[in-house]
Amino acid sequence: MPTQVNPATGEEGKTFPALDDGQIEAKIAQAVSTYRGWRTTDYETRTDLLRKIADQYDTQREELAAIITAEMGKPIKQARAEIDKCAKGFRFYADNGPDMLKPIEKPLVSGRSVSHWLPQGPVLAIMPWNYPFWQVVRFLAPTIMAGNVGLLKHASSTPECAAMLEQMVLDAGGPAGLFQNLHISASKVAGIIDDPRVVAVTITGSEAAGIKVAEQAGHNLKKVVLELGGSDPYVVMPSADVEQAARTAVTARLQNAGQSCICGKRMIVHEDVYDRFMEIFVEGVKNIKIGDPTDEATEMGPLSSEGARNDIAQQLEKAVQQGATKLYGGDIPDKPGAWMTPAILTDIPAGAPIACEEFFGPVAMVFKIKDLDEAVAVANDIPFGLGSSVWTTDEAEQQRFIRDIEAGMTAVNQMLASDPYAPFGGVKRSGHGRELGPYGLHEFMNLKNVMLP
Ligand code: NAP
Repeated sequence: MPTQVNPATGEEGKTFPALDDGQIEAKIAQAVSTYRGWRTTDYETRTDLLRKIADQYDTQREELAAIITAEMGKPIKQARAEIDKCAKGFRFYADNGPDMLKPIEKPLVSGRSVSHWLPQGPVLAIMPWNYPFWQVVRFLAPTIMAGNVGLLKHASSTPECAAMLEQMVLDAGGPAGLFQNLHISASKVAGIIDDPRVVAVTITGSEAAGIKVAEQAGHNLKKVVLELGGSDPYVVMPSADVEQAARTAVTARLQNAGQSCICGKRMIVHEDVYDRFMEIFVEGVKNIKIGDPTDEATEMGPLSSEGARNDIAQQLEKAVQQGATKLYGGDIPDKPGAWMTPAILTDIPAGAPIACEEFFGPVAMVFKIKDLDEAVAVANDIPFGLGSSVWTTDEAEQQRFIRDIEAGMTAVNQMLASDPYAPFGGVKRSGHGRELGPYGLHEFMNLKNVMLP
């Protein structure tokens, strides 16, 4: 039974009763029944709804942002930006979806082939708390456009965001059953994946949860998209604007209290510019405005929960035990809530296991490297391959990073951020499949080929 806990204060809020098995069954049945009608709707009906949902996000911006802040501690300004991005995401698929679903026609030696994008049915989405609206909207908007229907198992710590995500679709005039939130524990997920009426599953979350979900989907021969963890390299080479790279690194590492899958988590800095980079980066980290997340001026709030904060504190201890230097931070103030100061780790010994772990919180690992080959080697020396950011004005170096960094995304001379237009996803243990752009729309569709004379 999920209960809200405000991570800034430790105070409990509302409780949301968990669904029993009969209620889960009724929701799946409703999803199937709604799908029968929704799959036959024309694109205009779908794009109209997407636009109306976007309008709802604009209208209810303040209320929705306040729920994010109360449930997972995101500073209110960043929470508002998240809601704005959701509206943009719905409008992106409204504006571009029909073009992305145009049939693909090819002449054959005799006759022609026409491939149609068709929906497939109810898709289960398992989502995390870190961007509690945006992570879901990346799934929801293309689901509506595709003609599929969605079932959501959201993180237990963001139950009101989950409830509001469903409510917003209904308020915009979406049919009951088009998108349903299931207040359930993780232990109920396997049974839903087993249900033959659910056609596919997508998860955004940790490696451990991804393995469980992929196993279950594999057992049922169902398609699965995995958006898992990352420990993104943030590489700075001598030709870069080092001041700009260092200032941006502070935001890249500490946005959302460091709890973003595509945060720059490992700063890999060339020895020629290391000292200058560190001067600015360390100063920026020390000066970040930590405080009440409802305050407009706050840049970093608490972590999402005391449990998450304690996990990060333990990881930091482990790093020091393995020989890393804690240059700054990682202090836990004596007050209620999930508070911690950001931390910087340097001199991580070669081969230390901690270098291969994801810090899903405000801890930066900094590596000094000698040349381009070493930059690529350190960037790739992890099991993950989600995003990356490279700072260099040398075109040959840029091309080398684009070709050789093992990641789903590389940002050049900027920090990486998701955008509705750009495909999002990873390789290696960061998962597979893509969200956003046309690829996110096509993931759960049936590309039916029709042979014509
Ligand atoms: P998590 O524990 O894996 O939780 C994510 C979701 O999975 C929650 O809804 C959770 O439900 C559910 N879950 C947990 N264990 C499960 C299981 N055995 N079977 C089915 N569902 C299960 O992840 P987190 O630690 O809260 O989130 C942070 C992780 O997500 C980080 O590794 C981060 O990098 C990753 N992430 C990746 C992306 C991306 O796009 N690649 C984006 C954001 C975050 P409960 O809350 O009820 O446990």
